[in-house]
Amino acid sequence: MPIEINSEAAMAPEPARRSFWQAMGRGLVRRCPSCGQGHIFAGYLKVHPHCSSCGLALGAFRSDDAPPYFTIFIVGHVVLPLVLMVERFSAPPIWMQIAFWVPLTLGMTLALLPRVKGAVIGVQWATRAAN
Ligand SMILES: [Zn+2]
Repeated sequence: MPIEINSEAAMAPEPARRSFWQAMGRGLVRRCPSCGQGHIFAGYLKVHPHCSSCGLALGAFRSDDAPPYFTIFIVGHVVLPLVLMVERFSAPPIWMQIAFWVPLTLGMTLALLPRVKGAVIGVQWATRAAN
């Protein structure tokens, strides 16, 4: 598949200092950490080999286990205190808790995982961890 690269963005000079927070924010919204225009992902979690806008080699970033680790960390720190508070103050039947907490946990995990992976790729780009 040929890659169409926005020549204006590709010709933009590389900034000497990459913004950590801007790159992480762009990754959180699943955009290229360099230009903020191109999409990072070709699918749910599959990374495009190159940014369609600026040509950044997105495939060079290997986030490995960091996104699942951070996603579990975030979801666990949100859901577990809520489970404990509900159990402490109202103690609903177990079927009701399963019917609520399992979909909430799965939904949060599936919603956060690509965003966290995008943020990790953004941080890798900002810190020049891959290139
Ligand atoms: Zn880009």
